[in-house]
Amino acid sequence: MIWHILGAGSLGTLWATRLARAGLPVRLILRDPARLAAYRTAGGLRLSEAGNTQCHALEAELPAGEMPIHRLLLACKAYDAEPAITELAPRLAADAELILLQNGLGSQQAVADLLPGRRCLFASSTEGAFRQGDFDVVFAGQGMTWLGDPKDPQPPAWLADLQLAGIPHQWSPDILMRLWRKLALNCAINPLTVLHDCRNGDLRNLASEVATLCDELQLLLRACGQNAAAEGLHEEVQRVITATAANYSSMHQDVARGRRTEIRYLLGYACSAARRQELQLPHLQELQQRLQSALQARGLPLD
Ligand code: NAP
Repeated sequence: MIWHILGAGSLGTLWATRLARAGLPVRLILRDPARLAAYRTAGGLRLSEAGNTQCHALEAELPAGEMPIHRLLLACKAYDAEPAITELAPRLAADAELILLQNGLGSQQAVADLLPGRRCLFASSTEGAFRQGDFDVVFAGQGMTWLGDPKDPQPPAWLADLQLAGIPHQWSPDILMRLWRKLALNCAINPLTVLHDCRNGDLRNLASEVATLCDELQLLLRACGQNAAAEGLHEEVQRVITATAANYSSMHQDVARGRRTEIRYLLGYACSAARRQELQLPHLQELQQRLQSALQARGLPLD
């Protein structure tokens, strides 16, 4: 079974190179002819880990290729997921299975709605990677990827491929709980680091603002039926702030580099969910407005 991987960015490269190293067939799907030409000029994907760089000359193709797709890893940003799948849908076999690596919530459901009958696994990953150049990725942090299917608690047999490839993973029958929890942690930390232009650890000086946001996020999680994700949220936020004190959050890095953020699938998703539940969460709503003003001031998309 061929692993098709859409998106040869940070996580796409991390997955593609490890699967290929294990001898599994991998084909990359690149955006357009210009990207495919650039990939061919680069001669493959470069992955650096622990000071060692290797080049992997993997097969690559365009979305409009001929071959039917039975297994797809969707490794683009959340805002690119729906358009990418719309373009690829004609190639997805009736029994196609997908892994959706996107952060936040909202894009996974939108993709699944476009593909009735196909199994969509949602993923939540703590692995870290970044692009230091085109098709040139650094594996920056070991982690874990949780996978699950909100509609079916049974794991697929092909998780054995991930085992073979040495991709640390765990099956999670309640993947939505994990995604909600990660979203809440993100909402309590990342927007404030953008607004105050600071590292995660500097949020220790904003302890009462963080605590108020955590209270509102807990109300939201409980209203959405996510009681387990609400449990001990404030304590975990404090632990994350301490453990990652020297880091800039992913949203801070995106804004600093003038890149679009995934706000719509993080704080934006939380604020929309609150409205749907008719919950008044004034601090969260105000945080969204302040963040959008900051994005607007930098000429970045507001969603
Ligand atoms: P990334 O480095 O920006 O890579 C995304 C890739 O998707 C890019 O190479 C982009 O192509 C490609 N792409 C977008 N639309 C496409 C299309 N229609 N056809 C083909 N390729 C397309 O992003 P990432 O960091 O891997 O993040 C992917 C997701 O994982 C995000 O939701 C992120 O939040 C999440 N995540 C990332 C990390 C991490 O450490 N990086 C950790 C946990 C979770 P171009 O190169 O042509 O733009």
